[in-house]
Amino acid sequence: MPATIPGIHHVTAITGDVQRCVDFYVGVLGLRFIKKSINQDVPDTYHIYFGDYLGTPGSAMTFFGWPSWPERRTGSGQVTTVSFAVPEGSLGFWSGRLDKLGVAASRAKRFGTDSIVITDPDGIELELVDRASDDRFAPWREGPVGAEHAIRGFHSVTLTVTEGAATFDLLGRTMGFRKAGEEGNRTRFETGAGGPNGTVDVVESPNGPAGEESIGTVHHVAWRADGNAHQLAWREALVKVGRNVTPVIDRYYFKSIYFREPGGVLYEIATDGPGFTVDEAPEALGSELSLPPWFQVRRDRLDETLPPIVVPTTATTGAGH
Ligand code: ZN
Repeated sequence: MPATIPGIHHVTAITGDVQRCVDFYVGVLGLRFIKKSINQDVPDTYHIYFGDYLGTPGSAMTFFGWPSWPERRTGSGQVTTVSFAVPEGSLGFWSGRLDKLGVAASRAKRFGTDSIVITDPDGIELELVDRASDDRFAPWREGPVGAEHAIRGFHSVTLTVTEGAATFDLLGRTMGFRKAGEEGNRTRFETGAGGPNGTVDVVESPNGPAGEESIGTVHHVAWRADGNAHQLAWREALVKVGRNVTPVIDRYYFKSIYFREPGGVLYEIATDGPGFTVDEAPEALGSELSLPPWFQVRRDRLDETLPPIVVPTTATTGAGH
């Protein structure tokens, strides 16, 4: 088996309204708008990225802006909850902030850890989990939340599948994840150092609806690879057990391979590098339309056809400090 997967790299979802999405992830959750780019497979549509100050692997929540996609149909075969890690003891701050901003929130406790549950404007279920290990992350100090309580990347993702066995088998036997607990129909796995950023929950829902690629759903979750060789080793291991894995695709900010796990959830394995500062300085991240070199010829047309995006500033969202 290749070296362990360290954790989550990014999560990509579908929004029907890019501006509303930016207002929420920056203005409410305090993530930084780190990249304005295009979907390389549907290049007249946006691919926007939120993250910590640098878009550190494990912090990037990204969206395809697909307003003409079908209405939200979430269910099995999808990531159905995206959980962010916040510093321990921050939930009180977050409750107050969400309340002040008019965002409905409830509380949950999973495997002994408290969280706040909310939905984003497109209907995606999110959690803020009261546990973070933040050595790797770079909180956005100038953001509307400030460094003390800022999100420290992802805590975990929750997959919903009709039947767990094959999903567990791929995670546990092929991908090196360790079973970490069971709570009702929810089974927890960990990878790498485990804990925040190295956790995935699988919920078995034999009678629930099947998810479809639609607005307000998660498109895929990407796992981290340490580099090109690590990624290729994983590609080989997955092909060996019969997964249909894409060739390595250059996404400019990282290299990617994609495959579906047996429950239907789309997985990606993405390299940590070169990262989001490959074409913009850290302080300028997200300020321009970023295009990979092979799309530069389309810049003029894209500048005309893509709707403008206004990124909220601390002044417009109110200081949350
Ligand atoms: Zn991706």
